[in-house]
Amino acid sequence: MSGDTRHGVGVSPGTAVGPVVQVAPPVRPPADEPAPTDAGAATDQVLEALAAVAADLDARAEAADAHAQPIIKATAMIARDKGLAKAAGKLVGAGAGPAHAIAAAVEEYAAQFEALGGYFAERVTDLKDVGNRAIAVVLGVPAPGVPALSEPSVIVADDLAPAETAALDRSRVVAIVTAAGGRTSHTAILAAQMGIPAVVQVQGATHIPAGTRVAVDGDAGEVTLDPDMALIEAQRERRERRAAALAGVAGPGTTRDGHAVALLANIGGVDDAVAAGAQDLEGVGLFRTEFVYLSAHAMPSVEDQAEIYRQVLAPFPGRRVVVRTLDAGADKPLAFADLGEEENPALGRRGLRLCQARPELIDSQLEALALAAQDTGADVRVMAPMVATAEEAAWFASRVAAAGLPKSGVMIEVPAAALRSRHLLAEVDFGSIGTNDLAQYTMATDRMAGELSDLLDPWQPAVLDVVAAACDGGTATGKPVGVCGESAGDPLLALVLAGLGVSSLSMAPSKVPAVKLALSLHTIDECRALAELARAARSAVDAREAVRAAASEELTAIL
Ligand code: PEP
Ligand code: MG
Repeated sequence: MSGDTRHGVGVSPGTAVGPVVQVAPPVRPPADEPAPTDAGAATDQVLEALAAVAADLDARAEAADAHAQPIIKATAMIARDKGLAKAAGKLVGAGAGPAHAIAAAVEEYAAQFEALGGYFAERVTDLKDVGNRAIAVVLGVPAPGVPALSEPSVIVADDLAPAETAALDRSRVVAIVTAAGGRTSHTAILAAQMGIPAVVQVQGATHIPAGTRVAVDGDAGEVTLDPDMALIEAQRERRERRAAALAGVAGPGTTRDGHAVALLANIGGVDDAVAAGAQDLEGVGLFRTEFVYLSAHAMPSVEDQAEIYRQVLAPFPGRRVVVRTLDAGADKPLAFADLGEEENPALGRRGLRLCQARPELIDSQLEALALAAQDTGADVRVMAPMVATAEEAAWFASRVAAAGLPKSGVMIEVPAAALRSRHLLAEVDFGSIGTNDLAQYTMATDRMAGELSDLLDPWQPAVLDVVAAACDGGTATGKPVGVCGESAGDPLLALVLAGLGVSSLSMAPSKVPAVKLALSLHTIDECRALAELARAARSAVDAREAVRAAASEELTAIL
């Protein structure tokens, strides 16, 4: 019998077994750090430490791959932030020792990031990482974080900083387990990009003794301590079966009887575009343009935007690229698109609502896209986030047309939009269902609340009913409706979505092969029957189980 199994949220698929390596905790400023006798020299020490951290991160970025590079560089930028250095310098001036000054300045900044919430709150880990590294420099001790690994290991941490995740030695890290983190944390994003199985939200993870052998299941979201041979063997067999089954899949997404379901990539910038462009997929179903500008303080010029969009479109001549206009606000605030504090930002002026209040934001973006689209040969389509009404859809479509762009669409991620999709779709050329937000708004559950992930499960039958309503609008209007939320990358749920009538599925590129295989093993009528089974279920768990039991064994054998 295998030992103790801990449950968390699986964020990167696959299984692995190995000894636990606990990530070294952060360095604390010593309680007896003396007040500086020479404030000038102590300030220099702080500045030099931050500069050394920035330089070290730059060097790591150079050695890292295309996915990791921008994330490490963004962390290096935090180390170079003049405000952070100034805040620490001020504290030294007030009598704090350099290590304490760095720690206090970081705390001050972290409180500001946390108050901003969402994406910024998730960057607190990066900020604290910079602080820890700088304190280690000041104290002359080794940097905290992942120690050098001598054998294939399972990395366990409270949360992993992006710089730590990105610098992981892929040949030696077989899985990642964290106590904190959520589906949209950098650990989750990077782990999926790197193909390393990962489970987040595992309670007590940091108390697992170093050296304990654990089996990690990134699909089921499970971590088993001291697994027995039977469990290890079952996981190994599944891994091998999966690799063999996926090795054969190629070409466009289609069901066994030839019903096309385009398989597309979700991307957040130029590096993602270049990587996705080299893969066997049909284009981009969601380019989250706001990701490019998360750290911008001023609105980028049309020319600057056009240059980035050109680079994003360039790898896709002849393929579609769906560009989403800025989805700023709520969990993704942008400094230059801020309308001030709101009580409930997820229900406030985010996405298209914000652009309606500040039309210059969307107009400059559309102008830049029109410029970029001319040169690349990509099939560019533009869609708006957080659309709730037909009037909003019409407003967006007219602006897209005025910019000279050929196709407009709407995200369907608000239940109101799903229920009345026929009216929204009548105004545009296509719809794309954002199941991340649709689950949040249907289930009245903050998508950032890791501890409520059962309610946010896109298998919730209520969410499936709302997705079905969105698809019905597509059928009624003859307009294509796709899915670009995380659910599209779940091979079983992808079958249900195809059965509900979606014409495309957009996901992290690493998830495309398994979804392609799933489709190829079922006819469209079988997908429809699976969709009915899922919707007839009473709970998310029952829905998933019912579909799993009825799906092709060739597929379930590798999930
Ligand atoms: C969604 O809400 O499902 C979606 C794809 O958009 P985002 O995750 O960027 O909010
Ligand atoms: Mg969304």
